[in-house]
Amino acid sequence: MHIEVRNVNKAFGTHQAVRDVSFTIERGKLIGLLGPSGGGKSTLLRILAGLETPDSGDIFINGQRVNDVKPQLRGIGFVFQNYALFKHMNVFDNIAFGLTIRKARKAEIKERVNELLELTGLRGFEHRYPHQLSGGQRQRVAFARALAPKPELLLLDEPFAAIDAKVRKELRTWLKSLIAELGITSIFVTHDQDEAVEVADEMLIVQQGRLEQQGSPIHIYTDPRTAFVAGFIGHSSVVEQPNSLRGFENAASLAGAKAIIRPEFVEVGRQEEIAFPSAAEKGKVRHVFFRGAHLELDVEIGANRVSAHRSLDQVPLQPGEEVSVLIHRLYVISDESATMVENPLKVDPLPVHI
Ligand code: ADP
Ligand code: MG
Repeated sequence: MHIEVRNVNKAFGTHQAVRDVSFTIERGKLIGLLGPSGGGKSTLLRILAGLETPDSGDIFINGQRVNDVKPQLRGIGFVFQNYALFKHMNVFDNIAFGLTIRKARKAEIKERVNELLELTGLRGFEHRYPHQLSGGQRQRVAFARALAPKPELLLLDEPFAAIDAKVRKELRTWLKSLIAELGITSIFVTHDQDEAVEVADEMLIVQQGRLEQQGSPIHIYTDPRTAFVAGFIGHSSVVEQPNSLRGFENAASLAGAKAIIRPEFVEVGRQEEIAFPSAAEKGKVRHVFFRGAHLELDVEIGANRVSAHRSLDQVPLQPGEEVSVLIHRLYVISDESATMVENPLKVDPLPVHI
């Protein structure tokens, strides 16, 4: 195991920022550390890097406990959200920084910086100063600077948060392929689930200092273990009275419980469009949002509201229109856990004998 975090706790005054967090990371994996703002993501990274001391718990790198190892000796590269480049140094000197302070030979520094300029597509920019670069270029410099001393582990704390959406998307695709090519173990912090899902081999979901779940994006999406993960991942609706939904009236586990319904669990349309009409009920379209590749419908079913998608190829539905709604399945939320329940009415129609 390359990286291991074992039972780490950290409080700031009375605020518990990290609560008994444990996980392991295999060598070469790109981990997406995802969670809402204030959840403890940066604190966890800072503890790994040695910039913050845990109140209890241990950090291992290559099987060696590094709690007492100084930050600069842990072999960790760090890229922050705000570029944090040295303003008075040009690109070359910024990238060279980690090698210069380690008193590497001039020729060696030159060779390594040139290698990184090439790798990050910054060749020709080496004499520019940070203010003469775009946001994306500055983050590539920050990335090259972090890589220069050949770290064991690369930590990226919301590296593209300050960059506009289009460049940000290009940068993360670029970063993912570069990290894969280098094979360097990395942790990428983000509060944007789409970014995490796109970039990460594996995700760590953190909330209020707790590690909620670790797993591949698909695993976490299809099998959320906690109520928080079920609601946080995917663009879900929370339903307060799931027992009033057709098909779920008799589900004992739903009595008094809330449910979470993903848009892809819901089929909305004219009656003849619904695959299992006997399992469907009446609803009313409240809002229709154009989402580029599809329409998003906000649908009222009695006291409940759910969000559903509709293809642009289908007949458009209008706000106020009465529709048939089939809830294929939902997650029941109880005691912080999430359990999937299928709609029992969804059975094939009886065969017709001629
Ligand atoms: P995230 O990166 O997930 O947004 P942080 O790790 O930055 O979350 O913060 C977690 C919690 O700890 C927040 O409530 C934050 O205000 C608090 N916190 C972080 N650093 C400090 C600090 N140095 N002093 C006091 N509180 C802090
Ligand atoms: Mg943070």
